Formats: sequence, C-alpha cells, structure tokens
Amino acid sequence: MRRSSPATALVALALTASTLAASTLAASTVAGPSSASAPSSARATPPPKTPTQVGRGGAVTSVDADASRIGLRVLRKGGNAVDAAIATAAALGVTEPYSTGIGGGGYFVHYSARTGKVQTIDGRETAPQAMPRDAFINPRTGDPYRFTPELVTSGVSVGVPGTLATWQRALHRWGTRSLDQSLAPAARLARRGFVVDQTFRDQTVDNKVRFKAFRSTKRLFWKHGHAPRVGKRLRNPDLANTYDLIARRGPQAFYRGPLAAEIARVVHRPPTTEGTKLPVPPGHLTARDLAAYDVVDRRPTHVDYRGYDVYGMRPSSSGGATVGEALNILERFDVPAMGDADALHHYIEASALAYADRGAHDGDPAYVHVPLRDLLSDRFAAERACRIDPDRAMPKPTKPGNVKTYDGRCGGGAVAAESDPVSDTENVETSNLTVADRWGNVVEYTLTIEQTGGSGMVVPGRGFLLNNELTDFSLEYVKDDPNRIQPGKRPRSSMSPTILLRDGKPFLALGSPGGSTIITTVLQMIFNRIDRGMTIPDALAAPRAQQSNATMRTLAEPEFIDLYGAMLRPYGQRFTPSGDSFTSASEIGAATAVEFGPGGLLTAVAEPKRRGGGSARVLHPKPAG
Ligand code: GLU
Repeated sequence: MRRSSPATALVALALTASTLAASTLAASTVAGPSSASAPSSARATPPPKTPTQVGRGGAVTSVDADASRIGLRVLRKGGNAVDAAIATAAALGVTEPYSTGIGGGGYFVHYSARTGKVQTIDGRETAPQAMPRDAFINPRTGDPYRFTPELVTSGVSVGVPGTLATWQRALHRWGTRSLDQSLAPAARLARRGFVVDQTFRDQTVDNKVRFKAFRSTKRLFWKHGHAPRVGKRLRNPDLANTYDLIARRGPQAFYRGPLAAEIARVVHRPPTTEGTKLPVPPGHLTARDLAAYDVVDRRPTHVDYRGYDVYGMRPSSSGGATVGEALNILERFDVPAMGDADALHHYIEASALAYADRGAHDGDPAYVHVPLRDLLSDRFAAERACRIDPDRAMPKPTKPGNVKTYDGRCGGGAVAAESDPVSDTENVETSNLTVADRWGNVVEYTLTIEQTGGSGMVVPGRGFLLNNELTDFSLEYVKDDPNRIQPGKRPRSSMSPTILLRDGKPFLALGSPGGSTIITTVLQMIFNRIDRGMTIPDALAAPRAQQSNATMRTLAEPEFIDLYGAMLRPYGQRFTPSGDSFTSASEIGAATAVEFGPGGLLTAVAEPKRRGGGSARVLHPKPAG
C-alpha cells in the first residue's frame, strides 16, 4: 500500500472474519458427515473455504471448495494447469450447476511457460441457424417478449453450448490428460453428492418459480416440494452418467446422437409442468446446430499498462477490448499519485468512455468488423482521455469516439459518432477459475450458463441446465448494431479472463463473473493492485463500482457508497446500490486471482465474502509466520 485507505481496513476485517470462520469450519468438518459414507439424511457441514493462500508448486482458485480441491489433486498428481482447470471446471458443473456446466459456454486463456505466449479459446454459445432476426418478438402478439419472464426462461434464448468443446480443445492443445481422466473426479462428486451451503440454497430459492416450472428441473433442484436444505447432500447421478457417457464416447456423445436430439427437443418443447404460469417461448436450436458447433482459437488482446503486458479475450467477448481501452485511458493520468477520490473519479469516467465504444463496435468478428486496433491504440485512448474533466463527471450516457478520424490530440480531429448506448442486464451469475502449475503455465477461465439457473431447463435425465446466453444479443433489432441477432452468431459477452505479464513472466491472472459488471470488476482489481498499490487480496475484496455508460448513476456495492459516495459527490458522481430483481444478493462479481511473486511464490485469492466466499488453494502452503 502506498497510502492507507478505508477500503483496506474494511477488507482486512473481512479477511480476518472469513479466515476465522474457515478455521472454525475446518475444525468441525474433519472426517465428519461430509465423508463419502454419510447417509443422505445426515446434515453435514459444507467443506471449509480459504479465501487467500500463499505458497508454491501450483495453485487453484475457484468459488467452490470441492472444485478447487479436485483441481489441486490433479496438480499434485503431476497434471498441468490445463488438466487441473478442466477437472475444476467439470466439478463446478456439479457444485455450481446454476452458473456453469456443459449446457453453457465460456472463454479460456492460457499462458505457456514453454513458449511465453498467451493464447485463447472462444467457447461462446452460438445462435441456431434458424434463429430469425425477430426471434425476440412474440409471434402471437407482435410485441417484444419481456426480458423477464419470457426471454430469461425460454427455449428461444438457448444457444449451442460450447463448454465441452472448449475442454476438449484446451486438453488437445495444451493438456497432458484425456477428457475422460478430467471428467472422472467430477463424475464421482456428482454421484456421491455435495453438501448444500447457504449460497446454493439462496440461489435455488431465488429461482423457485422457474425451477418448479419444468418437470426435469423440479425433480433435481426442487425435490419433495422445497429447495435443498443447508447441510443436505445433493446428488446428481444423471450428471454423473452424462459425464461417464462423454468420457467413454468423447464430445461426440454430446454434439451428436441421442443427447443432441434431446437438447433440441427441450428447446422446441420445453418440459413444463402442468399448471405453470410461466409463458416459456420455444426456440430454434436443432441437432444439426449442435453437430456444427466449433470453438475458435483466437489471439488475445494486448495492451501495455504501466510496464505490464495485459492479455485478454478478444471478440466475441468485449472483455479484452473494453478492459484494455479503459486501462489505456487511465494510463494518460498519474493515477498512482492521486488520492482515493480523484483516482476513483478517473476510474469511473474511463469506464464510461470504454463502455461507449464497446456498445458501438463490439460483436462477433465473424459477422461484424470490430476495429480492435483502433480501440486499443494509445492514440485513440489519448483522445478519449481528453473527455475526462478532472473535477466534474461527464454527462452519461456519453457518445462513442470516432475510430476513423482520431489524431490523439485534445480538441483534435475526433468527432463523436451518433449512436445510442446499449443497456445491459446486470447480474451475478457465472463462475471463474484461475490455475497455475509448477512449470509456470497459467489458465484463466470464465464459464457460464448466463443467468443464475440459465434457461431454467434441465435436460431430462441428463442432470444439467441449458443456458439462456442468447439474451446477450441486443433485445431490439437495429441494423447497424454489431450485437444484433444473426443466425450462427455469438452474442457479445463481457467475460474478461485476463493475464498480466511483467518482463515476459506471469505477474497476475484474474477474472470474474457478473455479466456486464465483469469488465469493471477486472478493471477495478487491476487498478486497485497497480494504481492504488493494494495487495492482491485487498484489491479483490475491496468494494466495487460499475459505470457502464447506461445512466449518470454508477452501480456500486453498498460498502462502496458508504466509503466513497460522499467524497465523490463534489465531482457530480452519483450511485445506485447494486442488487437486482432476480436475486437476493447485492454483490458485484465473485472473482479469483493468482499473483506470481519472486522465487515462485504464489498468492492464490478468492472472495472472502461475496457469493459465500471462494476457495483459494496452493500445493505447498507457506508455513505461517
Ligand atoms: N452472459 C454473460 C456474458 O457473457 C455472462 C454471464 C454473466 O455473468 O452475466 O457476459
């Protein structure tokens, strides 16, 4: 820390509290009812979680203790970072089924210690070939479907899942283990069951109406007429069998044949329960769409930020472009020398500018030209930075810059283009994991089924939920909108798995869930760490704010408003507390990170509090003291 801030004090308290809670839990769980032989009626304690662990030899951090444990075991047995990441992700499909799973998609970023290169896989869901441009219009009334309930819980929002193909591709490119080896621990976990914690129960209760609307989902997640109780073991033998099937036959067992046909059937004829009042519009996905799915290998985005090389995800995600542009703008200012209020004012303003350009330009590059070179150029950023008044918040929404006529000077050639800002539906779903191995390879992986609970539809007898990722397309069809619906297209994402190198070696890997707030969560963590001098646990735990250029008001966690609202008022900054109509949580993001210190020292970090806290593990923890 270069200066002490109220955030740090708050974070330190949170860390102490959650570390204490974790050790208390640890004491009460030893070989307790969470062991494999526990009867299903027994109440168990969810496995303990440690939000920060420092040590050597490899690291795995995710939101879930079982998943991190499984990934760490792969590292211990000689697997590399990719092997461990896939095993962790498969386990998250069991324990975080509302956020991740083979019914969804994601973005995988890999640093190879051998080549020194960062490379990525785009495993985003795609629109079905038969998806019409007016897919979000109710054919019976001619009116647009409402976002909720119609689009969120629907077949029409289900995209072709990319997660399994991502796992296969990552293992093929960089792994040392097979897909069947990678799925085995998760299949065992699904069969044995995991201990329900408060977060899982809350998420289930938040989805009560949706989950009860489908026979298959009700059977799995609303059995016996209620949400699973905390301390109960939730088993998912159907998912175990699905993983086993894929292990035996490969991803073809998912993308072709009976399972593909079943997925298409669910989309066309949602398995609704009798008497549900939810409308559930059917969709367009076919078995042929599944057979045609493929991931895309992409080069990462790259910006240089205060001597660090920042690599992120290029479109179809807007993550790398938007985080990168905002960093380039911030780099024009001596933020590290500023106090909290000035620094945060600049962070908010830079975010708004980058989001304005995101809305105007980012989309699936197979369908639209994304001027990435311009968006990430220092000259463009220099001109955009001119828009920031150090004393006064700019009116928002602000217009995007003109990527064709910029010259880097204030008052220079750029003419703001006319375009409406695109509003986003903020949410708290998705999951993220970070893995490092003993050889120095690193994985940053964000995966999702979009909404918490995805489309709400479990594929009957298969144990996993289908995504509703196509709600990430713009809801209205506008011809010039880079994110308009098109058949086969990937909807624009905000996922921002990011790896920072210093002198060619990993310095920091980080990512987060949280819909459109992902971008600012990743940006804010980098800004907290590099510009505000926080440690990485503090940078991650510090309260968050998201300015996405939708309105003048910045969305912020209540703690952020308590700490900084008054000091940012004189700048004209105003805030709306986070939290939305879908969930009972007010968190922004549930991030993970690993920082790489001298001599191979790893600091693995997860959330101390958000989403019930996460589980950061290293292979050889540094002895205390
Ligand atoms: N659909 C989101 C995106 O791709 C991810 C899910 C979420 O966290 O909202 O940006």
